[in-house]
Amino acid sequence: MELILNPYNLVLVVAGFIIVVLIVILINNLERTKQLRNEIIQLKRTIDEIDLQSRTLIQTDMELNKIQDELNKKIIALYALHRISRQVSSTLDENKIFSSIENSHLEDMGFEKALAFLWDDKKENFELVLNIGYEDKEIDSIVKRLDKDFYLKLMQEGKTASSISVSEETLIKSICDLFNIYFFVISPILPKEGRKGFLFVGTDDLSKTITQGDEDLINILANQIGQTLDNARLFEKTWLAQQELEKKVEERTKQLSTALEEIQAISKRKSEFISAVSHELRTPLTSIKGYASILLAEKLGNLPLAVKERLEKINRHTDELVNLVNGLLDISRIESGKIAMKFEPYKLSQIINEVLDLMGVQLKEKEIQLTTEISADSEDILVDCEQLKRVFINLIGNAIKFTPSKGKITIKSFSLDHQIQVDITDTGIGIPQDSLQVIFEEFYRVDNPINQQVKGTGLGLSLVKRIIEAHRGKIWVKSKLNEGSTFSFTLPKVI
Ligand code: ADP
Repeated sequence: MELILNPYNLVLVVAGFIIVVLIVILINNLERTKQLRNEIIQLKRTIDEIDLQSRTLIQTDMELNKIQDELNKKIIALYALHRISRQVSSTLDENKIFSSIENSHLEDMGFEKALAFLWDDKKENFELVLNIGYEDKEIDSIVKRLDKDFYLKLMQEGKTASSISVSEETLIKSICDLFNIYFFVISPILPKEGRKGFLFVGTDDLSKTITQGDEDLINILANQIGQTLDNARLFEKTWLAQQELEKKVEERTKQLSTALEEIQAISKRKSEFISAVSHELRTPLTSIKGYASILLAEKLGNLPLAVKERLEKINRHTDELVNLVNGLLDISRIESGKIAMKFEPYKLSQIINEVLDLMGVQLKEKEIQLTTEISADSEDILVDCEQLKRVFINLIGNAIKFTPSKGKITIKSFSLDHQIQVDITDTGIGIPQDSLQVIFEEFYRVDNPINQQVKGTGLGLSLVKRIIEAHRGKIWVKSKLNEGSTFSFTLPKVI
Protein backbone atom coordinates (compact mmCIF):
# COMPACT_ATOMS: atom_id res chain seq x y z
CA MET A 1 0.00 0.00 0.00
CA GLU A 2 1.28 3.29 -0.83
CA LEU A 3 1.58 5.90 1.75
CA ILE A 4 -0.10 8.98 0.59
CA LEU A 5 0.89 12.03 2.52
CA ASN A 6 -1.91 14.35 2.23
CA PRO A 7 -2.92 17.01 4.70
CA TYR A 8 -5.86 15.00 5.94
CA ASN A 9 -3.69 12.10 6.88
CA LEU A 10 -1.14 14.33 8.50
CA VAL A 11 -3.79 15.84 10.73
CA LEU A 12 -4.98 12.41 11.64
CA VAL A 13 -1.47 11.33 12.61
CA VAL A 14 -0.82 14.44 14.61
CA ALA A 15 -4.20 14.12 16.31
CA GLY A 16 -3.49 10.49 17.06
CA PHE A 17 -0.13 11.42 18.47
CA ILE A 18 -1.61 14.14 20.62
CA ILE A 19 -4.29 11.77 21.85
CA VAL A 20 -1.66 9.22 22.78
CA VAL A 21 0.41 11.86 24.59
CA LEU A 22 -2.71 13.10 26.40
CA ILE A 23 -3.64 9.57 27.38
CA VAL A 24 -0.12 9.02 28.77
CA ILE A 25 -0.31 12.34 30.62
CA LEU A 26 -3.75 11.43 31.95
CA ILE A 27 -2.59 8.07 33.11
CA ASN A 28 0.36 9.73 34.79
CA ASN A 29 -1.83 12.26 36.47
CA LEU A 30 -4.16 9.58 37.66
CA GLU A 31 -1.23 7.75 39.18
CA ARG A 32 0.01 10.93 40.81
CA THR A 33 -3.48 11.75 42.17
CA LYS A 34 -3.73 8.29 43.67
CA GLN A 35 -0.33 8.69 45.23
CA LEU A 36 -1.25 12.12 46.57
CA ARG A 37 -4.45 10.78 48.05
CA ASN A 38 -2.49 8.09 49.76
CA GLU A 39 -0.05 10.61 51.06
CA ILE A 40 -2.92 12.79 52.32
CA ILE A 41 -4.42 9.81 54.12
CA GLN A 42 -1.03 9.05 55.60
CA LEU A 43 -0.58 12.68 56.64
CA LYS A 44 -4.00 12.76 58.25
CA ARG A 45 -3.13 9.67 60.19
CA THR A 46 0.13 11.23 61.33
CA ILE A 47 -1.66 14.42 62.34
CA ASP A 48 -4.18 12.32 64.29
CA GLU A 49 -1.35 10.52 65.98
CA ILE A 50 0.43 13.78 66.82
CA ASP A 51 -2.82 15.13 68.16
CA LEU A 52 -3.26 12.08 70.33
CA GLN A 53 0.31 12.26 71.53
CA SER A 54 0.08 15.96 72.34
CA ARG A 55 -3.11 15.32 74.28
CA THR A 56 -1.36 12.56 76.19
CA LEU A 57 1.56 14.89 76.71
CA ILE A 58 -0.69 17.62 78.09
CA GLN A 59 -2.39 15.11 80.35
CA THR A 60 0.95 13.74 81.55
CA ASP A 61 2.23 17.26 82.11
CA MET A 62 -0.84 18.05 84.20
CA GLU A 63 -0.39 14.89 86.18
CA LEU A 64 3.28 15.66 86.66
CA ASN A 65 2.40 19.14 87.90
CA LYS A 66 -0.03 17.60 90.34
CA ILE A 67 2.59 15.15 91.56
CA GLN A 68 5.08 18.01 91.82
CA ASP A 69 2.56 19.95 93.96
CA GLU A 70 2.00 16.91 96.13
CA LEU A 71 5.74 16.42 96.48
CA ASN A 72 6.23 20.06 97.39
CA LYS A 73 3.58 19.72 100.05
CA LYS A 74 5.22 16.57 101.38
CA ILE A 75 8.63 18.25 101.48
CA ILE A 76 7.17 21.23 103.35
CA ALA A 77 5.42 18.82 105.71
CA LEU A 78 8.66 16.88 106.24
CA TYR A 79 10.56 20.08 106.98
CA ALA A 80 7.81 21.08 109.40
CA LEU A 81 8.00 17.67 111.09
CA HIS A 82 11.75 18.02 111.33
CA ARG A 83 11.41 21.46 112.95
CA ILE A 84 8.74 20.27 115.40
CA SER A 85 10.80 17.18 116.28
CA ARG A 86 13.87 19.29 116.87
CA GLN A 87 11.99 21.70 119.12
CA VAL A 88 10.22 18.93 120.97
CA SER A 89 13.41 17.00 121.60
CA SER A 90 15.44 20.07 122.53
CA THR A 91 13.59 20.39 125.83
CA LEU A 92 13.93 18.06 128.78
CA ASP A 93 11.14 19.72 130.70
CA GLU A 94 7.93 17.68 130.34
CA ASN A 95 5.78 20.82 130.54
CA LYS A 96 7.60 22.46 127.67
CA ILE A 97 7.48 19.49 125.28
CA PHE A 98 3.93 20.22 124.11
CA SER A 99 4.14 24.00 124.23
CA SER A 100 7.10 23.83 121.84
CA ILE A 101 4.80 22.66 119.01
CA GLU A 102 3.97 25.79 116.98
CA ASN A 103 0.80 26.47 114.91
CA SER A 104 2.79 27.45 111.82
CA HIS A 105 4.70 24.17 111.78
CA LEU A 106 1.48 22.23 112.13
CA GLU A 107 -0.07 24.21 109.26
CA ASP A 108 2.94 23.36 107.10
CA MET A 109 2.09 19.74 107.78
CA GLY A 110 -1.39 20.42 106.44
CA PHE A 111 -3.34 20.69 109.69
CA GLU A 112 -4.56 23.70 111.55
CA LYS A 113 -5.96 21.99 114.62
CA ALA A 114 -4.22 19.77 117.17
CA LEU A 115 -4.90 18.44 120.63
CA ALA A 116 -2.88 16.16 122.88
CA PHE A 117 -4.14 14.33 125.94
CA LEU A 118 -2.30 12.29 128.60
CA TRP A 119 -4.14 9.68 130.65
CA ASP A 120 -4.25 10.34 134.38
CA ASP A 121 -4.50 6.95 136.13
CA LYS A 122 -5.63 8.38 139.48
CA LYS A 123 -8.33 10.68 138.11
CA GLU A 124 -9.21 8.13 135.41
CA ASN A 125 -9.41 10.93 132.93
CA PHE A 126 -7.59 12.46 130.00
CA GLU A 127 -5.66 15.64 130.78
CA LEU A 128 -5.32 18.16 127.96
CA VAL A 129 -1.66 19.06 127.39
CA LEU A 130 -1.76 20.69 123.94
CA ASN A 131 -4.36 22.86 122.23
CA ILE A 132 -3.93 24.43 118.82
CA GLY A 133 -6.95 25.96 117.09
CA TYR A 134 -9.73 25.40 119.64
CA GLU A 135 -11.50 27.83 121.94
CA ASP A 136 -12.10 27.01 125.62
CA LYS A 137 -15.80 26.35 125.05
CA GLU A 138 -15.06 23.86 122.29
CA ILE A 139 -12.51 22.15 124.49
CA ASP A 140 -15.04 21.73 127.32
CA SER A 141 -17.46 20.09 124.97
CA ILE A 142 -14.75 17.84 123.42
CA VAL A 143 -13.50 16.71 126.86
CA LYS A 144 -17.04 15.93 127.98
CA ARG A 145 -17.90 13.93 124.89
CA LEU A 146 -14.56 12.16 124.47
CA ASP A 147 -15.06 8.39 124.09
CA LYS A 148 -12.35 7.36 126.62
CA ASP A 149 -12.59 3.65 125.79
CA PHE A 150 -11.90 4.22 122.10
CA TYR A 151 -8.75 6.25 122.79
CA LEU A 152 -7.53 3.93 125.56
CA LYS A 153 -7.92 1.00 123.14
CA LEU A 154 -5.99 2.91 120.49
CA MET A 155 -3.19 3.51 123.01
CA GLN A 156 -3.23 -0.10 124.15
CA GLU A 157 -2.98 -1.42 120.59
CA GLY A 158 -0.48 1.29 119.57
CA LYS A 159 -2.49 2.00 116.43
CA THR A 160 -2.88 5.21 114.45
CA ALA A 161 -6.38 6.08 113.24
CA SER A 162 -7.14 8.50 110.41
CA SER A 163 -9.93 9.48 108.04
CA ILE A 164 -8.41 7.10 105.50
CA SER A 165 -7.58 4.16 107.76
CA VAL A 166 -10.82 3.96 109.77
CA SER A 167 -13.30 1.86 107.82
CA GLU A 168 -16.51 2.58 109.78
CA GLU A 169 -18.24 5.60 108.34
CA THR A 170 -20.16 6.25 111.57
CA LEU A 171 -16.95 6.31 113.59
CA ILE A 172 -15.33 8.76 111.15
CA LYS A 173 -18.42 10.94 111.33
CA SER A 174 -18.52 10.93 115.15
CA ILE A 175 -14.82 11.87 115.33
CA CYS A 176 -15.27 14.63 112.73
CA ASP A 177 -18.32 15.93 114.65
CA LEU A 178 -16.52 15.83 117.99
CA PHE A 179 -13.46 17.73 116.77
CA ASN A 180 -15.33 19.80 114.20
CA ILE A 181 -13.09 18.91 111.24
CA TYR A 182 -13.26 17.01 107.92
CA PHE A 183 -10.04 15.04 108.03
CA PHE A 184 -8.03 13.80 110.98
CA VAL A 185 -5.11 11.66 112.17
CA ILE A 186 -4.98 10.33 115.74
CA SER A 187 -1.75 8.72 116.92
CA PRO A 188 -0.94 7.27 120.38
CA ILE A 189 1.85 8.81 122.50
CA LEU A 190 3.58 5.87 124.18
CA PRO A 191 6.53 6.64 126.45
CA LYS A 192 8.09 3.54 128.07
CA GLU A 193 7.36 4.89 131.54
CA GLY A 194 4.89 7.43 132.89
CA ARG A 195 1.68 8.78 131.44
CA LYS A 196 0.61 7.64 127.95
CA GLY A 197 -1.81 9.54 125.72
CA PHE A 198 -2.67 10.50 122.16
CA LEU A 199 -2.09 13.25 119.62
CA PHE A 200 -4.96 14.42 117.44
CA VAL A 201 -4.47 16.61 114.35
CA GLY A 202 -7.24 17.70 111.98
CA THR A 203 -8.26 20.07 109.23
CA ASP A 204 -11.60 21.61 108.36
CA ASP A 205 -10.41 22.42 104.85
CA LEU A 206 -12.40 20.24 102.47
CA SER A 207 -9.98 20.87 99.62
CA LYS A 208 -7.20 19.10 101.49
CA THR A 209 -6.84 15.37 101.25
CA ILE A 210 -5.19 13.03 103.70
CA THR A 211 -2.77 10.41 102.46
CA GLN A 212 -0.97 7.48 104.01
CA GLY A 213 2.08 9.76 104.09
CA ASP A 214 0.26 12.24 106.40
CA GLU A 215 -0.66 9.40 108.71
CA ASP A 216 2.97 8.24 108.79
CA LEU A 217 4.24 11.76 109.56
CA ILE A 218 1.87 12.24 112.51
CA ASN A 219 2.82 8.78 113.74
CA ILE A 220 6.51 9.77 113.66
CA LEU A 221 5.70 13.00 115.55
CA ALA A 222 3.75 11.11 118.26
CA ASN A 223 6.65 8.63 118.62
CA GLN A 224 9.09 11.50 118.93
CA ILE A 225 6.94 13.07 121.69
CA GLY A 226 6.85 9.69 123.51
CA GLN A 227 10.64 9.37 123.37
CA THR A 228 11.14 12.93 124.55
CA LEU A 229 8.80 12.30 127.49
CA ASP A 230 11.02 9.34 128.39
CA ASN A 231 14.16 11.44 128.05
CA ALA A 232 12.64 14.17 130.22
CA ARG A 233 11.75 11.64 132.91
CA LEU A 234 15.22 10.07 132.80
CA PHE A 235 16.83 13.49 132.97
CA GLU A 236 14.61 14.46 135.89
CA LYS A 237 15.53 11.24 137.70
CA THR A 238 19.25 11.77 137.09
CA TRP A 239 18.99 15.42 137.98
CA LEU A 240 17.12 14.68 141.21
CA ALA A 241 19.61 11.94 142.12
CA GLN A 242 22.47 14.32 141.44
CA GLN A 243 20.82 17.07 143.51
CA GLU A 244 20.30 14.60 146.34
CA LEU A 245 23.91 13.48 146.12
CA GLU A 246 25.21 17.04 146.02
CA LYS A 247 23.08 17.87 149.07
CA LYS A 248 24.42 14.86 150.93
CA VAL A 249 28.02 15.64 149.95
CA GLU A 250 27.52 19.24 151.04
CA GLU A 251 26.02 18.20 154.38
CA ARG A 252 28.74 15.61 154.95
CA THR A 253 31.46 18.11 154.00
CA LYS A 254 30.00 20.60 156.47
CA GLN A 255 29.88 17.94 159.19
CA LEU A 256 33.43 16.88 158.39
CA SER A 257 34.81 20.40 158.36
CA THR A 258 33.04 21.13 161.67
CA ALA A 259 34.50 17.91 163.08
CA LEU A 260 37.91 18.84 161.70
CA GLU A 261 37.70 22.30 163.23
CA GLU A 262 36.73 20.72 166.56
CA ILE A 263 39.59 18.23 166.33
CA GLN A 264 42.03 20.99 165.43
CA ALA A 265 40.79 23.08 168.36
CA ILE A 266 41.06 20.10 170.73
CA SER A 267 44.51 19.25 169.37
CA LYS A 268 45.61 22.87 169.82
CA ARG A 269 44.29 22.91 173.37
CA LYS A 270 46.03 19.58 174.02
CA SER A 271 49.34 20.90 172.71
CA GLU A 272 48.97 24.08 174.74
CA PHE A 273 48.09 22.05 177.82
CA ILE A 274 51.03 19.67 177.37
CA SER A 275 53.33 22.56 176.69
CA ALA A 276 52.13 24.44 179.79
CA VAL A 277 52.22 21.35 182.04
CA SER A 278 55.68 20.34 180.79
CA HIS A 279 56.96 23.83 181.47
CA GLU A 280 55.47 23.86 184.93
CA LEU A 281 56.89 20.37 185.62
CA ARG A 282 60.40 21.20 184.49
CA THR A 283 61.02 23.84 187.17
CA PRO A 284 60.13 21.68 190.22
CA LEU A 285 61.91 18.70 188.58
CA THR A 286 65.07 20.75 188.23
CA SER A 287 64.84 21.72 191.94
CA ILE A 288 64.15 18.11 193.00
CA LYS A 289 67.15 16.93 190.98
CA GLY A 290 69.25 19.81 192.39
CA TYR A 291 68.33 19.05 196.03
CA ALA A 292 68.83 15.32 195.50
CA SER A 293 72.30 15.98 194.04
CA ILE A 294 73.25 18.26 197.00
CA LEU A 295 72.04 15.65 199.49
CA LEU A 296 73.79 12.83 197.60
CA ALA A 297 77.04 14.80 197.61
CA GLU A 298 76.61 14.81 201.44
CA LYS A 299 77.16 18.54 201.50
CA LEU A 300 74.56 18.79 204.25
CA GLY A 301 76.03 15.98 206.32
CA ASN A 302 76.62 12.25 206.02
CA LEU A 303 73.70 10.06 205.07
CA PRO A 304 72.86 6.51 206.07
CA LEU A 305 73.18 4.00 203.17
CA ALA A 306 69.43 3.38 202.97
CA VAL A 307 68.79 7.12 202.54
CA LYS A 308 71.53 7.32 199.90
CA GLU A 309 69.95 4.48 197.93
CA ARG A 310 66.52 6.18 198.06
CA LEU A 311 68.09 9.48 196.92
CA GLU A 312 69.80 7.74 193.98
CA LYS A 313 66.41 6.34 192.96
CA ILE A 314 64.90 9.83 193.23
CA ASN A 315 67.73 11.10 191.03
CA ARG A 316 67.18 8.38 188.38
CA HIS A 317 63.42 8.78 188.30
CA THR A 318 63.80 12.53 188.08
CA ASP A 319 66.04 12.05 185.01
CA GLU A 320 63.38 9.81 183.45
CA LEU A 321 60.70 12.37 184.24
CA VAL A 322 62.81 15.17 182.74
CA ASN A 323 63.23 12.99 179.62
CA LEU A 324 59.51 12.44 179.40
CA VAL A 325 58.70 16.08 179.93
CA ASN A 326 61.29 17.13 177.33
CA GLY A 327 59.87 14.63 174.85
CA LEU A 328 56.34 15.92 175.38
CA LEU A 329 57.51 19.47 175.11
CA ASP A 330 59.31 18.73 171.81
CA ILE A 331 56.27 17.01 170.31
CA SER A 332 53.92 19.81 171.25
CA ARG A 333 56.38 22.45 170.04
CA ILE A 334 56.86 20.78 166.65
CA GLU A 335 53.12 20.19 166.36
CA SER A 336 52.27 23.81 167.09
CA GLY A 337 55.07 25.04 164.83
CA LYS A 338 56.92 26.61 167.73
CA ILE A 339 60.08 24.79 166.67
CA ALA A 340 60.75 26.16 163.21
CA MET A 341 62.66 23.79 160.92
CA LYS A 342 65.93 25.18 159.60
CA PHE A 343 66.13 23.66 156.14
CA GLU A 344 69.64 23.52 154.72
CA PRO A 345 71.26 21.39 151.98
CA TYR A 346 72.90 18.24 153.35
CA LYS A 347 74.10 14.93 152.06
CA LEU A 348 72.14 12.10 153.62
CA SER A 349 75.28 9.98 154.15
CA GLN A 350 76.85 12.78 156.18
CA ILE A 351 73.93 12.84 158.65
CA ILE A 352 73.77 9.04 158.88
CA ASN A 353 77.53 8.76 159.51
CA GLU A 354 77.36 11.32 162.33
CA VAL A 355 74.52 9.35 163.96
CA LEU A 356 76.35 6.05 163.53
CA ASP A 357 79.37 7.52 165.30
CA LEU A 358 77.14 8.14 168.30
CA MET A 359 75.65 4.68 168.23
CA GLY A 360 78.81 2.71 167.63
CA VAL A 361 79.11 1.59 171.29
CA GLN A 362 75.57 0.18 171.47
CA LEU A 363 76.03 -1.66 168.16
CA LYS A 364 79.29 -3.16 169.37
CA GLU A 365 77.77 -4.21 172.71
CA LYS A 366 75.10 -6.25 170.94
CA GLU A 367 77.41 -7.32 168.10
CA ILE A 368 74.91 -6.06 165.58
CA GLN A 369 76.07 -5.78 162.00
CA LEU A 370 74.90 -2.53 160.42
CA THR A 371 75.19 -1.91 156.68
CA THR A 372 74.28 1.15 154.66
CA GLU A 373 73.25 1.38 151.00
CA ILE A 374 72.85 5.06 150.23
CA SER A 375 72.12 5.40 146.54
CA ALA A 376 70.32 8.75 146.78
CA ASP A 377 73.38 10.74 147.70
CA SER A 378 74.34 12.43 144.45
CA GLU A 379 72.31 15.52 145.24
CA ASP A 380 71.86 17.48 148.48
CA ILE A 381 68.56 17.37 150.29
CA LEU A 382 67.03 20.28 152.16
CA VAL A 383 66.60 19.19 155.79
CA ASP A 384 66.86 20.41 159.34
CA CYS A 385 70.03 18.48 160.15
CA GLU A 386 69.58 18.37 163.94
CA GLN A 387 65.95 17.21 163.69
CA LEU A 388 66.77 14.60 161.05
CA LYS A 389 69.53 13.27 163.31
CA ARG A 390 66.88 12.79 166.03
CA VAL A 391 64.85 10.75 163.51
CA PHE A 392 67.82 8.45 162.79
CA ILE A 393 68.80 8.25 166.48
CA ASN A 394 65.28 7.14 167.41
CA LEU A 395 64.80 4.69 164.54
CA ILE A 396 68.30 3.13 164.73
CA GLY A 397 68.10 3.18 168.55
CA ASN A 398 64.81 1.23 168.43
CA ALA A 399 66.23 -1.17 165.84
CA ILE A 400 69.18 -1.88 168.14
CA LYS A 401 66.88 -2.14 171.20
CA PHE A 402 64.45 -4.59 169.60
CA THR A 403 67.01 -6.73 167.72
CA PRO A 404 68.71 -9.56 169.56
CA SER A 405 72.52 -9.70 169.64
CA LYS A 406 74.28 -10.64 166.40
CA GLY A 407 71.30 -9.40 164.43
CA LYS A 408 71.43 -7.21 161.34
CA ILE A 409 70.37 -3.66 160.59
CA THR A 410 70.36 -2.19 157.08
CA ILE A 411 69.91 1.45 156.14
CA LYS A 412 68.93 1.91 152.50
CA SER A 413 68.09 5.05 150.65
CA PHE A 414 67.01 5.57 147.04
CA SER A 415 65.72 8.32 144.85
CA LEU A 416 62.08 8.55 143.69
CA ASP A 417 60.60 11.17 141.33
CA HIS A 418 60.47 14.16 143.63
CA GLN A 419 61.57 12.63 146.88
CA ILE A 420 64.03 10.25 148.45
CA GLN A 421 63.05 7.21 150.51
CA VAL A 422 64.93 5.80 153.47
CA ASP A 423 64.32 2.24 154.75
CA ILE A 424 65.70 1.10 158.11
CA THR A 425 65.37 -2.66 158.35
CA ASP A 426 66.18 -4.86 161.33
CA THR A 427 66.06 -8.58 162.08
CA GLY A 428 64.45 -7.96 165.47
CA ILE A 429 61.39 -9.20 167.32
CA GLY A 430 58.92 -7.49 164.95
CA ILE A 431 55.65 -5.74 165.70
CA PRO A 432 52.21 -7.38 165.86
CA GLN A 433 49.92 -6.42 162.93
CA ASP A 434 47.28 -4.78 165.13
CA SER A 435 49.91 -2.46 166.58
CA LEU A 436 51.18 -1.18 163.22
CA GLN A 437 48.40 1.41 162.92
CA VAL A 438 48.90 2.89 166.39
CA ILE A 439 52.63 2.57 166.78
CA PHE A 440 53.18 6.27 165.97
CA GLU A 441 50.72 7.47 168.64
CA GLU A 442 52.04 9.02 171.83
CA PHE A 443 52.79 6.61 174.72
CA TYR A 444 52.02 3.51 172.64
CA ARG A 445 54.35 0.68 173.51
CA VAL A 446 53.91 -2.95 172.47
CA ASP A 447 53.57 -5.29 175.39
CA ASN A 448 56.70 -7.43 174.83
CA PRO A 449 59.49 -8.80 177.07
CA ILE A 450 62.01 -6.14 175.97
CA ASN A 451 59.64 -3.30 176.86
CA GLN A 452 58.99 -4.92 180.24
CA GLN A 453 62.74 -4.84 180.96
CA VAL A 454 63.87 -1.61 179.29
CA LYS A 455 62.21 1.66 180.25
CA GLY A 456 60.89 3.84 177.48
CA THR A 457 58.54 6.78 177.08
CA GLY A 458 56.58 5.64 174.03
CA LEU A 459 57.18 9.12 172.62
CA GLY A 460 60.10 8.42 170.24
CA LEU A 461 58.12 7.35 167.15
CA SER A 462 55.55 10.07 167.76
CA LEU A 463 58.34 12.67 167.70
CA VAL A 464 59.90 11.06 164.59
CA LYS A 465 56.54 11.21 162.75
CA ARG A 466 56.10 14.88 163.58
CA ILE A 467 59.62 15.75 162.40
CA ILE A 468 59.12 13.87 159.10
CA GLU A 469 55.74 15.55 158.57
CA ALA A 470 57.30 18.95 159.32
CA HIS A 471 59.60 18.11 156.36
CA ARG A 472 56.45 17.31 154.27
CA GLY A 473 57.42 13.65 154.21
CA LYS A 474 55.62 10.44 155.18
CA ILE A 475 56.52 7.58 157.48
CA TRP A 476 55.22 4.02 157.70
CA VAL A 477 56.24 0.62 158.98
CA LYS A 478 56.08 -2.97 157.73
CA SER A 479 56.81 -5.79 160.10
CA LYS A 480 56.57 -9.52 160.72
CA LEU A 481 56.63 -10.91 164.23
CA ASN A 482 59.93 -12.61 165.05
CA GLU A 483 61.35 -11.75 161.62
CA GLY A 484 61.95 -8.02 161.80
CA SER A 485 60.67 -4.59 160.92
CA THR A 486 61.26 -1.97 158.24
CA PHE A 487 60.60 1.66 159.06
CA SER A 488 60.41 3.74 155.86
CA PHE A 489 60.14 7.47 155.39
CA THR A 490 60.23 9.89 152.49
CA LEU A 491 61.62 13.40 152.25
CA PRO A 492 60.87 15.73 149.37
CA LYS A 493 63.92 16.78 147.38
CA VAL A 494 62.68 20.36 147.28
CA ILE A 495 60.73 21.83 150.20
P1 ADP B 1 59.81 3.58 173.15
O1 ADP B 1 60.90 3.05 172.30
O2 ADP B 1 60.25 4.59 174.13
O3 ADP B 1 58.95 2.54 173.73
P2 ADP B 1 58.83 4.51 170.65
O4 ADP B 1 57.77 5.49 170.32
O5 ADP B 1 60.15 4.75 170.07
O6 ADP B 1 58.84 4.40 172.18
O7 ADP B 1 58.35 3.09 170.17
C1 ADP B 1 57.05 2.68 170.49
C2 ADP B 1 56.97 1.19 170.46
O8 ADP B 1 57.11 0.70 169.13
C3 ADP B 1 58.08 0.50 171.18
O9 ADP B 1 57.79 0.42 172.54
C4 ADP B 1 58.08 -0.88 170.54
O10 ADP B 1 57.08 -1.67 171.12
C5 ADP B 1 57.74 -0.58 169.12
N1 ADP B 1 58.90 -0.51 168.25
C6 ADP B 1 59.51 0.59 167.79
N2 ADP B 1 60.52 0.29 166.97
C7 ADP B 1 60.59 -1.07 166.90
C8 ADP B 1 61.42 -2.02 166.24
N3 ADP B 1 62.41 -1.64 165.43
N4 ADP B 1 61.16 -3.32 166.40
C9 ADP B 1 60.14 -3.74 167.18
N5 ADP B 1 59.32 -2.89 167.83
C10 ADP B 1 59.53 -1.57 167.71
